[in-house]
Amino acid sequence: MIPLEEARAEVLAACPPRQPVSMSAADSLGLVLAEAVYSTEPVPPFANTAMDGYAVRAEDVSVASEEAPARLRVIGTVAAGHAPHVPVGPGEALRIMTGAPFPAGADAVAIVETTSTDGGDVLVTAPALAGVHVRPAGEDIQVGQEVFPAGEVLGSGHIGVLCSIGSEKVAVVPAPVVGVLSTGDELVEGATALLPGQIRDSNRYTLMSLLRRDGFAVVDLGIARDQEADIERAVMEGVARCDAVLTSGGVSMGDFDYVKAVLDRIGRMHWMQVAIRPAKPFAFGVVGTTPVFGLPGNPVSSMVSYEVLARPGLRRMGGRRQDDLVRPAVKAVADSKLHAGHDGRTTFVRVRSVFGPDGRAHASSTGGQGSHQLHAMALADALAVLPPGRDAAPGDDIDLIFLGP
Ligand code: AMP
Ligand code: MG
Repeated sequence: MIPLEEARAEVLAACPPRQPVSMSAADSLGLVLAEAVYSTEPVPPFANTAMDGYAVRAEDVSVASEEAPARLRVIGTVAAGHAPHVPVGPGEALRIMTGAPFPAGADAVAIVETTSTDGGDVLVTAPALAGVHVRPAGEDIQVGQEVFPAGEVLGSGHIGVLCSIGSEKVAVVPAPVVGVLSTGDELVEGATALLPGQIRDSNRYTLMSLLRRDGFAVVDLGIARDQEADIERAVMEGVARCDAVLTSGGVSMGDFDYVKAVLDRIGRMHWMQVAIRPAKPFAFGVVGTTPVFGLPGNPVSSMVSYEVLARPGLRRMGGRRQDDLVRPAVKAVADSKLHAGHDGRTTFVRVRSVFGPDGRAHASSTGGQGSHQLHAMALADALAVLPPGRDAAPGDDIDLIFLGP
């Protein structure tokens, strides 16, 4: 058995970032910037008002009060989207709406709440300070500024910023396209009646949805039978169509576990016994330059193996930074008994967590912890990480890895 970190290092070394592409900023959610973005425009593009009211000269209203309002002549109205045509002179005010360009001559906004109108005049009942409620051009982003560095993961706010500076195309690392293959003579598709010995394929749908959750593109490679030729055909199809392939099943010690044999023959294969529970067996092959992750067949094992081995590799292919590949473990509290393995392996216990009044995450087992018992995995939102032989009792400090997006 080798430690998880060692297995993961082998995987990461064989998963270099994909070549950057130019993509519409609007389609880049979740992708990683391949180059820094510099702005060629200021944001806001022009000085504008943050409030509805009147553009005035601060000195004209400096002693204005309810009892002695300042009377100014209204010289026009400017709404958002329209250019101010007139500068504001002494004794004058321009009606302006939020987002409207701020006129020359004025330096303050008399907010509408402190004004009343009187014919063509406005009565201002409170001082307006110079600069307050005025948003200068470039206050958020300046021309020439590095807006985002290379390596930044683009979220919704980033996309908004890119649109606001007119950056329609960005250089990003594309999400890897990942093929998913199930293997096994016992597997059937969908809700057809089961013949003796058959089970329904669940891993393929679990894995495809995990990939989608993580922002990867998915290719369904179907089910291969427990025959070397069929597995080879399906893996080769995946390698031809995808940037990476996930298989499940056929990597343990059974007589018909052919995935290892195939990967060994058509690629450079690392077969590993990883010191974790579940998900000990793991085959990792590189066919040409395409990584093939041979995940174990037991449903929980395939999910855990995906989380701790495949997902970090795929994130690296997608350009994620080195410190953003693996989910972090956070300190938490056990609320139920959690059982560790006593055979030198790190145990991942399926738990659900709640934040307690103490501000800490509290984790309780979600049920049966067998590697075939997917139900408790489905209910879990985190994995408690127990070192070999270290059971946790209620109240004990534990490490927790949060799953989820
Ligand atoms: P294997 O690694 O092929 O020996 O499979 C280990 C266990 O996982 C067996 O009980 C298989 O029936 C089960 N299994 C393998 N593939 C799948 C799958 N795609 N969906 C559900 N169970 C599976
Ligand atoms: Mg099998």
